[in-house]
Amino acid sequence: MKVLIADDDQISRMITKAAVEQSGHECIVAVDGDSAWQMYQDHSPEAVVTDLMMPGLNGLDLCRAIRASEQDSYTYIILVTSHGSRKDVLAGMEAGADDYVTKPLDPFSLHIRLLAAQRITSLHADLARYRTALTEQARTDPLTKLHNRLKLTEDLGQLHSHEDHDYCLAMVDVDNFKSYNDIYGHQAGDAALLAIATTLAREVRKADAVYRFGGEEFLLVLRDESVSGARTVMERVRSAVHDLRIEHSGDPDGVLTISAGVSAFTEGHRAGSEQLLREADLALYAAKASGRNRVTLASALRSE
Ligand code: GH3
Ligand code: MG
Ligand code: MG
Repeated sequence: MKVLIADDDQISRMITKAAVEQSGHECIVAVDGDSAWQMYQDHSPEAVVTDLMMPGLNGLDLCRAIRASEQDSYTYIILVTSHGSRKDVLAGMEAGADDYVTKPLDPFSLHIRLLAAQRITSLHADLARYRTALTEQARTDPLTKLHNRLKLTEDLGQLHSHEDHDYCLAMVDVDNFKSYNDIYGHQAGDAALLAIATTLAREVRKADAVYRFGGEEFLLVLRDESVSGARTVMERVRSAVHDLRIEHSGDPDGVLTISAGVSAFTEGHRAGSEQLLREADLALYAAKASGRNRVTLASALRSE
């Protein structure tokens, strides 16, 4: 573990440092509360062994500052009290300390407390990893591994906090997919969806994002893209799916195809994300109505 020691008394510092190192931990040492707080922020130690009385930021202030700043990690804090007064110990624990030792420091007392510190901080690190994994999982579609609706909602909110950035939405739907399932079975349907999802993700730029919107519907967010740029991208995507040549005897083209509707957040059309989704959906509907396997722009519908 990396252990930060904070003590304004030189002799105490040396004794504590020797004890921490003897326990097999790496040591960083601060000569007062203010520099301890700075070192804490710079080095993110797993444990802090701090004196109570220090000039500037005292031990209690340091505990509170650390607890207020912690996000995913947990710092185990051990207070060193001069006389082991109950009042000091209580104040320290209330300020956020996990345990205390009294002066003069007994290396064994510190050693066993650092064992507990190691266990607790490692449990917290596990928790943080699980939390990150769950957050990711809750935003991922299990079949295609694309982002899901929840992630889309969050990302659209984020996009709309930068009002001046143009972007386009493309709503994509697989053509005649119900009959594909009917003819080839649901498992083959799943495999086809996965192949199409992979193709969509491959054909867009890194800054763009692809979401599984629903069953056989996908949504693409094309960042910093003009309407004509988005049309070019979506034509490329449409033809890439066609070129997969996934046989579909129930489709007039003989292969699985997609249709897409494109809406745009541009100068002169700063619509909300709900409206843009509706516009993309209407454009998709128009693409279906006019024969499928095509890309339709919402702006073209508006000017008709
Ligand atoms: P259109 O060209 O108008 O889009 O016709 P369609 O048949 O694709 O439209 P419809 O919405 O009637 O059918 C969608 C089908 O997609 C129905 C449903 O069974 C299938 N589907 C949705 N999600 C999944 C999935 O996860 N796996 C599989 N295999 N099929 C799915
Ligand atoms: Mg559909
Ligand atoms: Mg469909």
